[in-house]
Amino acid sequence: ELTDVSEMLEEVADRFSFQLEQRSIQIDIDVLPDVEEIVLDRDRIDQVLDNLVSNAIKYTADEGHIVIRAVRLDAKLLEISVQDNGIGIPKKDLSRIFERFYRVDKARSRNMGGTGLGLSIAREIVRAHGGTIALESDLGHGTKVTFTLPYLRDEEAAE
Ligand code: ATP
Ligand code: MG
Repeated sequence: ELTDVSEMLEEVADRFSFQLEQRSIQIDIDVLPDVEEIVLDRDRIDQVLDNLVSNAIKYTADEGHIVIRAVRLDAKLLEISVQDNGIGIPKKDLSRIFERFYRVDKARSRNMGGTGLGLSIAREIVRAHGGTIALESDLGHGTKVTFTLPYLRDEEAAE
């Protein structure tokens, strides 16, 4: 369906407003002016965004900061990123982070709940949309997950 990107991102933040407030985590949404409406499977992309934002909240300390940004890379590609200033991920784990059930350091993840499926599902969904997803992280400083979505013509999107 044709989706307004700002509205979609505001709604993700709204779904987490209770937790964000409780933990004094600030969330900023930055949608550049050239970002246009895009055709996507809203439920599925919401699932991606919900996982990325829930990860950012889980692995960021109280009073942390999350930024969701949308930029248009070129005529055909939208890029959305979710960045936090949380605990980060060790270099040695980065290559496996999108695997099913992979979780960094069971001790730190155990009390956080979750199954380790979120990122693998996110990657499946993004790929099914014809996009790509990548994660960068600096241990102790934060994590940024970036995914792209192509602007498709209606006929392409219907397939
Ligand atoms: P689920 O998403 O199924 O509830 P999960 O959040 O543990 O469980 P993923 O979303 O796949 O699983 O993330 C895998 C692992 O990557 C997490 O367990 C965590 O160790 C690490 N991780 C993911 N996002 C972040 C982040 N923003 N900061 C630090 N570590 C992260
Ligand atoms: Mg998760």
